[in-house]
Amino acid sequence: MTNSPGNRRLVVGGGRAPGFPVAAPGDLSLNISPAALPDFLGTIAQPPFRAGAFLSIYFERVPFMAFTGRYAGALVEAARILQPGGQLVIDTGIAAPERAIVETLHAAGFVDVVVERAGLSHISARRGASVTARAYCRCNSGHYFVGSHCPFDGWSAPESVELADAVGRLAADGRPPSLRVLADIGVSEPALARTIVIEFGCDASVFEAISAEGLIVDGAWRPSAMLDAAHL
Ligand SMILES: [Zn+2]
Repeated sequence: MTNSPGNRRLVVGGGRAPGFPVAAPGDLSLNISPAALPDFLGTIAQPPFRAGAFLSIYFERVPFMAFTGRYAGALVEAARILQPGGQLVIDTGIAAPERAIVETLHAAGFVDVVVERAGLSHISARRGASVTARAYCRCNSGHYFVGSHCPFDGWSAPESVELADAVGRLAADGRPPSLRVLADIGVSEPALARTIVIEFGCDASVFEAISAEGLIVDGAWRPSAMLDAAHL
């Protein structure tokens, strides 16, 4: 089931039954108990919502057993259904394993994690921006591209093959590329000399090659074809 709740707040553990805190306008509730009269019946471990569906999520006195230990994946799901930059607020019981919760939040991509305790544990966090990094190789005509061959002119070299292989190995491990990481896994100096890594602020940035007509070098415009190895 996929719902489209829009940019609203999800109240996990909430409901519209008597005795529950009154929902704010626009709030949607998720509860595992039908007796709570939630807007959506289900668990935060498998929330029935699309990625980025909510602007904020509130765990309304949710027992910590529901999102720690074997159910720690619930916090990863919370990150998934939050928009980048979205806010998560957790109110849970007095014996909550706060250190483990904070570690899981960081691993799930949350930032600005703050823990307060006033009887209950109150934990707030913000979902970090969704950053995508790509490694590009420069061909002799000044194009930057992902892969072993320049898609504009077919150029290829041992360095581009080496870089593409290394990037593939990182991707298989789920690791984003950086120049430091590429050096650490053994990419050669000549290959690194042709490499740039760009971080994009969202997953939707998908272009695979850049055709720069030229570059400004020492304040002067130089067509890419005029640049030599000293400018790579
Ligand atoms: Zn090229």
